[in-house]
Amino acid sequence: MRVPLVAGNWKMNTTVIEAEELVYDILDTLDRIKGVEKVLCPPFVSLAAINMMLQGSSIKLGAQNMHFETKGAYTGEISPLMLRELCEFVILGHSERRWYFGETGEMINKKLNAALTHGLKPILCVGERLEENETGRTEEIVRKQVRTALNDIKLTPDLVVAYEPVWAIGTGKAASSKQAAATIKLIRSILAELWNKDIAQNLRILYGGSVTSNNIAEFISQPEIDGALVGGASLKAEEFLNIVTQTAEIKGKPV
Ligand code: PEP
Repeated sequence: MRVPLVAGNWKMNTTVIEAEELVYDILDTLDRIKGVEKVLCPPFVSLAAINMMLQGSSIKLGAQNMHFETKGAYTGEISPLMLRELCEFVILGHSERRWYFGETGEMINKKLNAALTHGLKPILCVGERLEENETGRTEEIVRKQVRTALNDIKLTPDLVVAYEPVWAIGTGKAASSKQAAATIKLIRSILAELWNKDIAQNLRILYGGSVTSNNIAEFISQPEIDGALVGGASLKAEEFLNIVTQTAEIKGKPV
């Protein structure tokens, strides 16, 4: 039984005060929505303040990135030991990190290993770019990203995967729900090859890329899709609450 998960990736948006205001606006309603795991991923600098605000609620916290070392001379980086005092989840391999900051598959593999070693639940993002999609290379790219990220990683129920076609992120041009479901099915079959069928069947695979309250129902109605990683729409209180509410109505399970 896969409990649906909706995560809000706030990216590099909101000051600490703005982040607190956004949490204040959604906290009570979001807390009351049952049947969906709800995760907020604000910028690093807001994690401590939001961690305090979420105490005693059903809402979980995630970071947007992480270094793979536990400590040391890595100016500007944040380690798994720092994060695990504050949050439960960490987004890894987001396409903005791969393409703007040169993160390689090998780095993402090390990060994934470090997250799991230190008790953080990774949300691993994979997805093809537009030209790869248009030239029929989606399967090849996604297969390579998943296999490289999970190389030598032990079977774990804590992993969440997000299929995020790069061309759909922040563009307002979401994938079709059928297309997303087909790639997610492929990802599940790769996980079954790597680990085993039972664990693959129980892992959650999300869709991400221009999800809004207008299209979430289509995505979440697909049996293969276990939730959403939401960027832009997670910064608008009503919109995010609406997305989570619809997810609960369509696919909510006892958490
Ligand atoms: C994301 O940042 O992971 C994302 C899916 O963004 P958006 O919803 O804005 O496309």
